[in-house]
Amino acid sequence: MPELPEVESLRRILARSATGRTIVSAAVREKRLRRALDDDVADAIAGRAILAIGRRAKYLLIELDRELVLLVHLGMSGSLTHRRAGFDPGPFDPRHDHVEFALDDGARLVYNDPRRFGLIKLIKKSELENAAELRGLGPEPLGGGFSSEYFWRATRGRKAAVKTLLMDQRIVAGVGNIYASEILFRAGVRPTRRAGRVTRAEAERIAAYTPAVLSEAIGGGGTTFRSYRDARGQPGRFAERLQVYDREGQPCIKCGAAIRGIVVGQRSSFYCPHCQK
Ligand SMILES: [Zn+2]
Repeated sequence: MPELPEVESLRRILARSATGRTIVSAAVREKRLRRALDDDVADAIAGRAILAIGRRAKYLLIELDRELVLLVHLGMSGSLTHRRAGFDPGPFDPRHDHVEFALDDGARLVYNDPRRFGLIKLIKKSELENAAELRGLGPEPLGGGFSSEYFWRATRGRKAAVKTLLMDQRIVAGVGNIYASEILFRAGVRPTRRAGRVTRAEAERIAAYTPAVLSEAIGGGGTTFRSYRDARGQPGRFAERLQVYDREGQPCIKCGAAIRGIVVGQRSSFYCPHCQK
């Protein structure tokens, strides 16, 4: 499932390749995603210029002229690729190319999503802040607002597992399952620990490793297990740098103990029984 680093990698590529272009036409072949696309979305987008490409949590925000914003969420298996002539579709099954935008330089933006849990929604820029999808999101982990002080306060009195709290989008926006495991391994805190019992020093380490791990993953183009591909159709390279995620039974890179796999909050989680307290 694409998390913040994958969406940010995508954003950076699209910002370079599609900003300033005009969407000549849009085609919706399958409108039944997580929520059905509005019927008029293709007509509303045709002729619009792409002014900028932003991101909030795991949402891509494609800013268009006439004060419109196209909100895109990749769901479980979605991808948005920038395709020029000769693009190798590789793993992309054309039957899942649900939405396509033709740009004025001949390139196409193609939304492919086998499981159709994604979201594409056109909204007015003035309504962005109050959009149901974005309202109530916590601070960005790579921006101001997410500090050790903030995280420490957010954990006080909380009975939930610290990993569940770290993945709570209302606490911090965009941290998902893979990176929560990685952050807690580096911070030396077990994913099952009650958040309220995290010490101040541990909260500081978690708050410091959160942006560090996410930035490192963005630098690696994100993580690909199965379906994720970036905007050029390339898999992310961060999987080989994961230190704990999906390594059950393998030796810990710090101490050699066998990594354990457990389920926390219905999500697969991994930790070292020796290094993580
Ligand atoms: Zn260890």
